[in-house]
Amino acid sequence: MNKPAIEGGTPVRKNKIYYGHQYLDQADYDAVVDVLKSDYLTCGPKIGELEEKLCKLTGAKYAVVCSNGTAALHMAAMAAGLGKDDELITTPITFAASANCALYVGARPVFADINNETYNIDPKSVESKITANTKAVVAVDYTGQAVELEPLKEICKKHGLVLIEDAAHAIGTLYDNKPVGSIADMTTFSFHPVKTITGGEGGAVLTNNEEYYKKLLLARSHGITRDTSLFEHECDGPWYYEQVSMGYNYRLTDIQAGLIISQLDKLQMFKERRKQIVNMYNEAFSKMDTIIVQKEIPQSDTARHLYILRIDPERLKIDRKRFFEAMAAENVICNVHYIPVYYFPYYEKLGYKKGLCPNAEKLYDEMLSLPLYYGMSDEDVQSVIDAVKKISDYYKK
Ligand SMILES: *Cc1c(COP(=O)(O)O)cnc(C)c1O
Repeated sequence: MNKPAIEGGTPVRKNKIYYGHQYLDQADYDAVVDVLKSDYLTCGPKIGELEEKLCKLTGAKYAVVCSNGTAALHMAAMAAGLGKDDELITTPITFAASANCALYVGARPVFADINNETYNIDPKSVESKITANTKAVVAVDYTGQAVELEPLKEICKKHGLVLIEDAAHAIGTLYDNKPVGSIADMTTFSFHPVKTITGGEGGAVLTNNEEYYKKLLLARSHGITRDTSLFEHECDGPWYYEQVSMGYNYRLTDIQAGLIISQLDKLQMFKERRKQIVNMYNEAFSKMDTIIVQKEIPQSDTARHLYILRIDPERLKIDRKRFFEAMAAENVICNVHYIPVYYFPYYEKLGYKKGLCPNAEKLYDEMLSLPLYYGMSDEDVQSVIDAVKKISDYYKK
């Protein structure tokens, strides 16, 4: 039998492959240089141009771009009116920011469990966590797959909650043929380099609600406005502006906006290639009884951000940690998305304890993220599959 490299065999690849990588081309470089040569590096025309483009892509009425996906979530929590003693329900299988946005505004994150097959937040668990203090739900389109938006919308409507969709993984995904971004009360994107589209850093909030839109604009820029209809005092002259609420400097630069605009032209191409890679993985792994393949709801036409390899510990002699190390020895550098948020010491000190969400905790123990990005060749994909097969065969019970 072919020995895994961790046991002294030859690795399936000579060079290392990592779980994600951005893809930029000449059009992207040119777009950035064009902005650098223009009159505006920030607060210029590229901001409106990008916002218009995001509205067109998603069908949302309003878009507010900002410095990153975390700022987008903070702004959304502010616009939703979240404050002290309010509760925000989210999933533990996410990046910390999805829950931190509640803490930023003095509210309390509450964790609902995931569905054991799709790994997205389970609407039934959400409903079971609702109290008199619940004000919002942050539903994360984990791996790019749309959450169960219709059931979640219904629950939020019934209980008067604001539905915020954290679509950091899911730009380009459709739910029931409608683009993510037009469905929840507010939807947030991230343009970090590991995400599907990048600006180096960057984020956005999309909404159809004019009231949220106005609040998002204030949150982005110090709570300051030049809109005379919002003034509380008399206008003192042409220079006059007012700070009417709390806000931050969460602005995006025109340099980043120029890059994101250019990247968006490649979104369909990125989505198609990512789908191809996912299909290659799924086809190989669905034939193996040691691997569990993530299920998709039929409503989601997914622009996939992450590929989750879930091992079946009942059928292997090694655990996830050893599997991860064995993959690294084959020169396939995986990652784990995510450590349940409430495992972190900061959350522990706030009183959260292990055992809250059993499905999420079990998934965490059994998963790793395989390389998935536009620039992977078919040979790269095959080498990852070969590494999984080799390790799985060797350690099979
Ligand atoms: C990346 C990410 C964020 C934060 O986005 P940044 O742009 O890095 O601030 C939030 N939520 C999820 C699910 C993410 O993956």
